[in-house]
Amino acid sequence: MTDQVPAYAARTPGAPLARTTIARRAVGKHDVLIDIKYAGICHSDIHQARDDWGPGTFPMVPGHEIAGIVAATGPGVTKYAVGDRVGVGCFVDSCRRCENCRQGREQFCLEGVTFTYNSLDKNGEPTHGGYSSRIVVDENYVLGIPEGIALDVAAPLLCAGITLYSPLARWKAGPGKNVAIIGLGGLGHIGVKIAHALGAEVTVLSQTLNKRDDGIRLGADHFHATNDPETFTKLAGSFDLIVSTVSATLDMDAYLGLLKTDGALVNVGAPALPNSVSMHSLIGGNKTLAGSMIGGIAETQEMLDFCAARGLGTEIEVISAEQINEAYERVTASDVRFRFVIDAATFAA
Ligand code: NAP
Ligand code: ZN
Repeated sequence: MTDQVPAYAARTPGAPLARTTIARRAVGKHDVLIDIKYAGICHSDIHQARDDWGPGTFPMVPGHEIAGIVAATGPGVTKYAVGDRVGVGCFVDSCRRCENCRQGREQFCLEGVTFTYNSLDKNGEPTHGGYSSRIVVDENYVLGIPEGIALDVAAPLLCAGITLYSPLARWKAGPGKNVAIIGLGGLGHIGVKIAHALGAEVTVLSQTLNKRDDGIRLGADHFHATNDPETFTKLAGSFDLIVSTVSATLDMDAYLGLLKTDGALVNVGAPALPNSVSMHSLIGGNKTLAGSMIGGIAETQEMLDFCAARGLGTEIEVISAEQINEAYERVTASDVRFRFVIDAATFAA
């Protein structure tokens, strides 16, 4: 029997999110029913609810930074038990057979990954995300949240955390490496913490100096304003690795000029519009411009365990469901320190 669940949805692209009810499937053999406790607001939720990335499926219940407690398990479930603290990130299924799935890179499933929302499941039904009271997910796509991280500060790790951990690990941020993070928002702030914990020398490149004290407190060694043109002359040729978390288009050529010879700029931001780049900015200095998208299930668990071992959580402002629309405006205005997290108890009327 399906379960009727309170949720918040955008009815049409750009419409304010409002209370609604959605159906969750019955708990299947390998499924876990999760009582959602907290859901983070990622800028990707805003992009999709506003159709920034092209036509989405509406009504849309966003939310892919989910933390909660297991409330029931199917008869075939072996990994989780009722009462366990768990999380769900950006995807809830994949083919499990293709080369990418077998390598633990399920987010790039060659048959098409099933995203947590704004996607179709294997039965062709639209998926609905974490802005809701409960969710049913196959156990293989559920993460364990280690003791030692509170559920509210853990929720944003399920997207923001893995999105920064994966490229920082892959591009070997660590001792002796100069790493810059562009944008001190939801992704950027946990990127600063993780890069610092990995032992890198960390610089924040923010539009203004307004967030400087927070940036230093989070673990940055240096903080520069990108609205000051001198920043780009002063820091030319400084970084081994730059990770851009910016949700808008950027002057990529200016940032590529900040890389050392052989340096890499890894972009994780997903702006609505294309970004131009001069090939001369890459060939001079053997530079790399790369992208990165979240991480696979095993790597996400590795990130959660790493954060728990180092005492790393996200910096959050807990809000009620009624405040989602105001929160969207504040995220769009870069006015959040550093992630809004919705208290799931407030989804029910
Ligand atoms: P966010 O909290 O809004 O942070 C983005 C930050 O970028 C802002 O806080 C701001 O930092 C900076 N910024 C915003 N507009 C800017 C502009 N016009 N010029 C320069 N800097 C600007 O968003 P988020 O949740 O961290 O997500 C960031 C982006 O990553 C979004 O596009 C999102 O869709 C994408 N994303 C990608 C992945 C992936 O797997 N690749 C995963 C999650 C999210 P300052 O105030 O410090 O300047
Ligand atoms: Zn996200």
